[in-house]
Amino acid sequence: MRTGHCLCGAISYRFRAAPGPVILCHCEHCQRHSGAAFSVNVLVPRDSLDITGTPRTYRTVGTENGNQRDRLFCGDCGTPIFTILHERPELVIVKAGTLDDPSGLEPAAEVWWRRAQDWINPDPDRPRFDGDAKTEE
Ligand SMILES: [Zn+2]
Ligand SMILES: [Zn+2]
Repeated sequence: MRTGHCLCGAISYRFRAAPGPVILCHCEHCQRHSGAAFSVNVLVPRDSLDITGTPRTYRTVGTENGNQRDRLFCGDCGTPIFTILHERPELVIVKAGTLDDPSGLEPAAEVWWRRAQDWINPDPDRPRFDGDAKTEE
C-alpha cells in the first residue's frame, strides 16, 4: 500500500498494487507542467487507485505524436498529481514527488531524451528513448 497527497492535502490517494515501472519523462509538456527538468512517473493500475478529493484536469495533445494526456492537479495548491494516457486507460501515472514514501523506486527508462535539459548527465545503465518508448520499438 502506498499513499500520497498534494501540497495542501485537498487531494490524497492510495493504491494497493506494487508500483509499476518508473519512467523519467523529459517532454516539453512535463517540463512545463511540473516546473522541473523532467517528471518522475510511476505507472499504477487504475483499478488499484483510490482518490480522495476532486482534482482538476488539463488536457494536452502531444506536439509531435498527437497523444492526449489528462493532467490532473490540485485546484487549490496546483500540485500535479496524476496523468492519464488516453491510449493506456488501464494505467494512471502517479507523480513520484507526491508519494508519502517514495523510497525504493527505480527509474527503468527515460523518454523524450532529445528534449532533456542540457545539464543532465545520462546514466549509461538506464535505457533512453529519443521520443516516447513506443516509437522506438
Ligand atoms: Zn492541494
Ligand atoms: Zn512527458
